[in-house]
Amino acid sequence: MQLNNRTYQIQGVDVLEIADQFGLPLYVYDADKIIEKIGLLRSSFAGVNLKIKYAAKALTNISILKLMRQQGVEMDSVSVNEARMGMMAGFEPGQIMFTPSGVSFEEIREAVSLGLQLNVDSLPLLEWVGQTYGTQVPISIRINPHISEGGNIKISTGHADSKFGISILQRDQIRAVVEQYQIPVAGLHIHTGSDFKNAGAFLKGAEVLFDLASDYPNLSFIDFGSGFKVAYKEGDHITDVEELGHQVSAAFQNFCKNYGRDLELWFEPGKFLVSESGHLLVKTNIVKENPTRTFVAVDSGLNHLIRPMMYDAYHDIKNISNPSIPGEDTAEKTYNVVGYICETDTFATDRALPEVKPGDVLSFENAGAYGFSMASNYNARFRPAEVLVYEGTPYLIRQRETFEDLVRGQVDLSIFNQQEILNA
Ligand SMILES: *Cc1c(COP(=O)(O)O)cnc(C)c1O
Repeated sequence: MQLNNRTYQIQGVDVLEIADQFGLPLYVYDADKIIEKIGLLRSSFAGVNLKIKYAAKALTNISILKLMRQQGVEMDSVSVNEARMGMMAGFEPGQIMFTPSGVSFEEIREAVSLGLQLNVDSLPLLEWVGQTYGTQVPISIRINPHISEGGNIKISTGHADSKFGISILQRDQIRAVVEQYQIPVAGLHIHTGSDFKNAGAFLKGAEVLFDLASDYPNLSFIDFGSGFKVAYKEGDHITDVEELGHQVSAAFQNFCKNYGRDLELWFEPGKFLVSESGHLLVKTNIVKENPTRTFVAVDSGLNHLIRPMMYDAYHDIKNISNPSIPGEDTAEKTYNVVGYICETDTFATDRALPEVKPGDVLSFENAGAYGFSMASNYNARFRPAEVLVYEGTPYLIRQRETFEDLVRGQVDLSIFNQQEILNA
């Protein structure tokens, strides 16, 4: 989003016009941002055989999946339903990694019959795969490397007490099961969560896999998952992808030489590819001046963007109707920006913004990842519509919900249809 002639624009389209055209609240995604991130990842890893598997759970809209596919990106899924959406978007089943955590064997069976690339996350599942498929289904194995680099415990997955992956300390047990059933192991995988800060942390995880790879001579890929940290506010520590690419590529090339073959290097970024592209546009309903604070209440809430309440996430907020113009002294006030849900749902506390008036359109920035995909109908509210701006044109990619959507599937029991009301 850019400020041009005192208006915020996405690819030259006035954001207020998008709000007018499609209504609010609205998720708007900038395809150029996604394409830019893909390009940055590719150029940073130019020296290796890189495959990008978009972690679709960050933003599952089928048109976004199609955009990824058009850009030569493949897909990572955590449920069979996500994979089916990927197939609707045109992915071949073999291009879709299936990385479930603790799902039923029935779902695994479905994934294998669809032809997804199965990533095994526990010893019981490995045993079951051996018994059920023997030598028939090549798998990859998700390893927990026991690395903790601090950060938000709710989104870190590689530490010793995390539920994810098979502990590297069980290396011998993994190998015993694989040998017993002659399971073909095509890949090794780690995904250490979303809060890694530097290339050093990635490299520690990489070293664990490079070492483990000596147990498995027929690998075709190593998957480093994700964990790219993105900036939510100015000055945030972010993953320097170019530096990461430089260091991890060098280590990987060295590993391939020792391994005796050039393998594919996979990443599964979610947040990195889509976070910055997304803006949640909302309208200001009420500005309420209490003795100690001024509240801005908007037509949205934790039902549309749960990250501030769930992860204490910071999202930059822009007043689209009253931009702060660089070089000019815009009068700012301090607000608590809150939602319309009957529950404390604070988007921002003590946030300085150019004066907000009722009716003003605000934008929550960096809302592309885990925004809509974690949205709900709590308080019987509709989820927002979604728009993708592609080559200068805004396209509706999800319709606004209706009352029928809210009651669909509910069973209205006729046994309660009698008129008399029971006395207590
Ligand atoms: C969620 C997830 C990702 C993506 O994580 P981001 O932090 O959004 O990049 C990658 N791989 C797996 C297995 C995941 O579950």
